[in-house]
Amino acid sequence: MADKKLKIGIIGGSLGGLFTGIALQKSGHQVTIYEKTGEKLKDRGAGVVLQQELIDFFQEYQINRIENINVPIYQRVYVDRNGRQTRVDNSKQQMTAWGTLFHELIKNFPASQYNYGHSLKNLSQANNQVSVEFDNGKVETFDLLIGADGTNSTVRKIVFPEILLRYAGYVGWRGIVHETELPTDVLNELIDRFTFYSMPNSHILCYLIPGNDDEVSPGSRRINWVWYWNVNKGQDIDDLLTDINGIKRSGFVPEGLVMPEYIKAQKEIADEVMPPIFKELIRATKNPFIQPVNDLAVTKMYSNRVVLIGDAAFTPRPHTAASTAKAVANGINLSQSLKDFPDDIEQALAFWEQPQLDMGNYLKNRGVALGNQSQFGTSLRT
Ligand SMILES: Cc1cc2nc3c(=O)[nH]c(=O)nc-3n(C[C@H](O)[C@H](O)[C@H](O)COP(=O)(O)OP(=O)(O)OC[C@H]3O[C@@H](n4cnc5c(N)ncnc54)[C@H](O)[C@@H]3O)c2cc1C
Repeated sequence: MADKKLKIGIIGGSLGGLFTGIALQKSGHQVTIYEKTGEKLKDRGAGVVLQQELIDFFQEYQINRIENINVPIYQRVYVDRNGRQTRVDNSKQQMTAWGTLFHELIKNFPASQYNYGHSLKNLSQANNQVSVEFDNGKVETFDLLIGADGTNSTVRKIVFPEILLRYAGYVGWRGIVHETELPTDVLNELIDRFTFYSMPNSHILCYLIPGNDDEVSPGSRRINWVWYWNVNKGQDIDDLLTDINGIKRSGFVPEGLVMPEYIKAQKEIADEVMPPIFKELIRATKNPFIQPVNDLAVTKMYSNRVVLIGDAAFTPRPHTAASTAKAVANGINLSQSLKDFPDDIEQALAFWEQPQLDMGNYLKNRGVALGNQSQFGTSLRT
């Protein structure tokens, strides 16, 4: 139990908000999460590589047994244009899905302290207290406010308005296919493997993840794929991120909202350039979605009693497969630091901050190097 019980508000109830909320609540603090979405967050369809930080978190907080939430892979397989294997590396990894993690975490945070339909509008600080105002008119005051509100964080825009998001020059087309929707010979090529195909200025990868209801048994799993495309800044990316309702999205364009003409063009290109297994995978995908790749890095993780964690502070490129693990680390380290300095929040935050900045910058630089090498043939473009 914390020596000093703090009243803590968390803005954003996705994975970062829940990891942090669970850790702080189990330490004895009075924690409330506010999520702008009006109802249970929908599966964003994305696969997530289970890094060690997530496995440790699930064990420490007894969320669920890891074998119940992952589909393992045993090899990384690289194929050529004809689908022939050019390289096979033995490598065990555990794959899960954003939705599977969310479903497990939300069960482990008190429902009465998780508020949907609360979009942060404004905040102000005075006398070491943070006052917040939501767009539904509710106002609240906290000892500590945590911005876990993602890449387009409102909290960050208020406390660090000088920090800007930068489009990296390419997007990830992503898709999910149920394993029963693939021809058996294609599925057999993908099971137990993380499969890659590289082409000039692009690559595609895929792996199996749990099913729609988080099942991990054969017959009910899904295949998650990501295909990186260079798209020019300006009109080209603006057009691609404009959804079927004519709304220009600032983040990803979800399943079912991508303009049909882009999906048609994407499938035609896949038919021309892809090895057979990826061609089949893309053909079988009903509703692909688009994730623009951005670079975001803060230079401070907190301002007085307002803290940023997860994607709100650093959004590394997806090649690192470590954004979720970073959000876990931010949350548990914050909880630990508040335990270590129970009577001095300022010292707790100062002690917590530098390792989080170091981790964020390391992942940012690694993501830039990997992405630029694949997409532009150089790691020098930043
Ligand atoms: C399409 C997609 C695919 C991804 N794939 C991977 C992957 O393969 N591997 C991986 O490790 N990571 C992946 N990520 C990143 C991963 O999901 C995040 O790193 C992880 O969820 C932690 O993010 P977060 O909780 O900090 O932010 P987010 O998950 O972005 O959550 C922010 C939350 O804040 C809420 N919010 C925003 N503004 C407000 C406001 N004003 N008031 C209240 N609430 C607000 C949002 O509705 C959202 O629920 C992916 C992300 C996306 C979008």
